[in-house]
Amino acid sequence: MDYFDLDANLSKQDLALKEAAHKFAETVMRPISIKLDKMSAEEAIAPDSPYWDFMRKAYSLGYHKLAFPEELGGQGLTPFQLALVMEELAWGSFGLTLALHTSFDAVAAIEGGEELMQEFTFPYINCTDGSYIGCWAITEPDHGSDPLAFGLPIFRDPKLRPQCRARLDGDEYVINGQKAAWVSGAPTAKTIFLWCQIDPTKGFAGNGMFVFSLDRPGVSKGKPCEMIGTRELNQGEIYFDDVRVPKKCLVVGPDHYEAAQAVHVAMTTSMVGLWGVGLARAGFEEALKYARVREQGGKLLVDHSFIQAKLFDMFAKIEAARALCRSAVIYNFGMLPEKRVPEYGFAAKTFGTRTALEVCTDAIQILGANGLTPEYLLEKLFRDARVTTICDGSNDSLAIFGGNHLGQTYPRKRHI
Ligand SMILES: Cc1cc2nc3c(=O)[nH]c(=O)nc-3n(C[C@H](O)[C@H](O)[C@H](O)COP(=O)(O)OP(=O)(O)OC[C@H]3O[C@@H](n4cnc5c(N)ncnc54)[C@H](O)[C@@H]3O)c2cc1C
Repeated sequence: MDYFDLDANLSKQDLALKEAAHKFAETVMRPISIKLDKMSAEEAIAPDSPYWDFMRKAYSLGYHKLAFPEELGGQGLTPFQLALVMEELAWGSFGLTLALHTSFDAVAAIEGGEELMQEFTFPYINCTDGSYIGCWAITEPDHGSDPLAFGLPIFRDPKLRPQCRARLDGDEYVINGQKAAWVSGAPTAKTIFLWCQIDPTKGFAGNGMFVFSLDRPGVSKGKPCEMIGTRELNQGEIYFDDVRVPKKCLVVGPDHYEAAQAVHVAMTTSMVGLWGVGLARAGFEEALKYARVREQGGKLLVDHSFIQAKLFDMFAKIEAARALCRSAVIYNFGMLPEKRVPEYGFAAKTFGTRTALEVCTDAIQILGANGLTPEYLLEKLFRDARVTTICDGSNDSLAIFGGNHLGQTYPRKRHI
């Protein structure tokens, strides 16, 4: 791998991690993602699907537990190393990177204490065959962007009623309702990190965060859904019909929900932006490769000044996006929860994924009609990029919500 990294402080160990991740992305993730892209959503998760080869290989190499501390059995990467590795994985496949990192329940259980860690965190960390898969369910059929509007008045408006609700009954919560078809990993997940309403007087701010196993009576799932891109990522609905979960499974209650959400979303949005950078780089490299061999007007495309300027613009955008998204990941994964900054996560997510879409669009233009055919990888990368500006909060609504945060917090004071 010869991709230059502008960071002057890259150590030998950092470089080795980056190169190993790139090799895995190139030899395992990319070929499998291409196969899965051509399959139906149901075929893609069937027992004989290459999806499971990917999961087995990824877990056996520890790619599912990169950010977990070494003392818990994780890889113990620094936030900087995490950023290096994640960009490489997303270069291989944005969808599989997302599929691999939906087990938020294992992380959330740490907040819930030793008992929940024994039940959820350690089985995940110690899993080597890809069979422990979790999911994170916040989106509902009637509420996609609303649950991300923390800090805004509508978030506390009791007239907005989440469709998934929990009520306390003795020592158990009883959960009813539904989550949207977009829950990543839902069709294959065994466990869930579920965000649903507990206190209806507070609107979305009255929600809580639960961690529990999906084999409980009353849980059912919809069919995996078909998507335009990131088709290697399975997604689907989850229904709850009088599902009883012990009180201990509530990790965050309404009193702390809004603050906890800001912390969580600051991290996920930073990371998704960085994955966008990996995807943008993949598109750029396809365009550059093509421009070096395709001749028009008596010379290679890469020797035409207009193409040179286009490629340079794509390159500059990627470098700028990396600088922002990597910083956001390093900061938001490295800081104590109360110091994390959602507006930087939102900026990273919107800028990183917009870069992926713009770069892949320009790359298609450079390939001409070839870029529109599945014969070339770019056609898939473009479809993947189209998805990224909507997943994890649509870029437009994140910009609105992020702008609102700026109104309240800018300029932030940095305390060391
Ligand atoms: C690949 C992928 C993976 C995903 N993974 C998960 C997952 O793991 N778990 C999960 O729970 N969800 C997941 N989602 C769901 C995702 O977070 C939502 O799709 C996203 O938040 C947008 O919600 P929506 O699709 O319902 O759009 P809507 O909220 O209906 O928005 C539609 C349009 O209206 C705009 N809009 C919305 N609100 C406002 C407003 N207040 N003001 C102005 N404009 C507004 C939006 O910007 C958008 O353009 C995933 C989605 C995708 C595509």
